[in-house]
Amino acid sequence: MLGNLLPYRHIAPLMRTSLFTAVCATALLTAPTSGQVVDPRIEAILQGVSAEHLHEYLAMLTSFETRHSLSFSDRANFGVLPARQYILETMQRFSDRLQVEFDCYEVEPQGRIPEQAQLCNVVATLPGRSERRIFVSGHYDTVARIEASDPASGGGGGGFDWSRYDNPAPGANDDGSGTVLTMEAARVLAQSGIEFDATLVFVAFVAEEEGLVGASLMAARAEREGWVIDAMFNNDIIGNSLGGNGILDSRTLRVFSEDPMDSPSRQLARFIRRQGATYMPGHEVRLIAREDRFGRGGDHTAFNRRGYAGVRFSESRENYSRQHTAQDTLGGVDFEYLARNTRVNTAGVATMAIAPPAPNVNGPRGPMLGRGESGYHAEMRWQRSPGATRYRVVWREAWTPDWQHEVIVGDVDRFVLENISIDDYVFGIAAIGPDGHESLVSAYVRPPRSRSDIREVGQRR
Ligand SMILES: [Zn+2]
Repeated sequence: MLGNLLPYRHIAPLMRTSLFTAVCATALLTAPTSGQVVDPRIEAILQGVSAEHLHEYLAMLTSFETRHSLSFSDRANFGVLPARQYILETMQRFSDRLQVEFDCYEVEPQGRIPEQAQLCNVVATLPGRSERRIFVSGHYDTVARIEASDPASGGGGGGFDWSRYDNPAPGANDDGSGTVLTMEAARVLAQSGIEFDATLVFVAFVAEEEGLVGASLMAARAEREGWVIDAMFNNDIIGNSLGGNGILDSRTLRVFSEDPMDSPSRQLARFIRRQGATYMPGHEVRLIAREDRFGRGGDHTAFNRRGYAGVRFSESRENYSRQHTAQDTLGGVDFEYLARNTRVNTAGVATMAIAPPAPNVNGPRGPMLGRGESGYHAEMRWQRSPGATRYRVVWREAWTPDWQHEVIVGDVDRFVLENISIDDYVFGIAAIGPDGHESLVSAYVRPPRSRSDIREVGQRR
């Protein structure tokens, strides 16, 4: 067993059969390629994403002057009411298969909401063969600081007045960009004609600026009603390529995901980068290992708090001087960049929606990872995913951010890596469907210990 004397990364594919023991005769051993298929149907969907459409939707959304969540008005072309109506009616026109509706809540005065109001998310659902759901979202509401020139600011300026609903807040980039990305993704996926396994849910959230209110109400409803949510792709401030410091970057975008290193949200982030590299190789996904930008938040957090996997997409270079001001206008959005970011979202959503669900790697007593008969192997067990024809087994040293090693195995529910210590590596399994589409990785992890694990074992004398 020469292989066991060498660090694993130096072992050529030829030697792999001596290292691995597949416990089932149908297990396949392959070279450590990325194993990704490129589906021409998904390529066609991505080609359909249109910068012109994105511009058309956003020009209309910014024409309402403000989309402040409480900017209720009788005027047909002002404020939040015609804005949400426009989003609803536009998505209704995309396809008969899309079920488009308002998701409304009566909200009592609280925090940044000074008076009772009915607040509505706009939701478009594309039913799949199964109940599991994948969300794509942005927030359509806006807010702007009181300008120093406004008499109401008392000459100070720069602050928010949460009782002022009518000052200009075009919100082209924050977050008109995420809203129109969500709309365009809904259009191309609904019009693709593919019957997806997962149900796709496209949401324009309300009252993000008042503290993730629309998203929190919907996440609570999801938990109450027992929705199975595989992933949330939240897009917020995603269309500007010229930073306020003058640095231009239209070739990368950021994906933020919450701790810990093997949270479901972080598996989602890794998956997005993998699909992005497959379908959009010239457009780099930069993974950021934190929940959101420093000290700031977004709607995915409302879902994370209830245990759902969710990430935030944001442009790489922000222009803070436009955000939350009357200067957040169409001129600050790069529509070709926004279209590429829409394609990255769409590639991930389409792949995950065609693929089988991720395997369940947990038994009644936690992750089904053991040391095998010898006591020194890594033995993985999992529940087969419906529709899967094979699995990708991945692992990495525990002190690393991304999967380093992989092997494809057949339609099995158990696999052994000889002489690989389960103490030193992290392991995961993804399910692969008949056409090569792959699920999220399910990682073998134990929940972190908490204060409730503290045992008092004696008394100081
Ligand atoms: Zn925002």
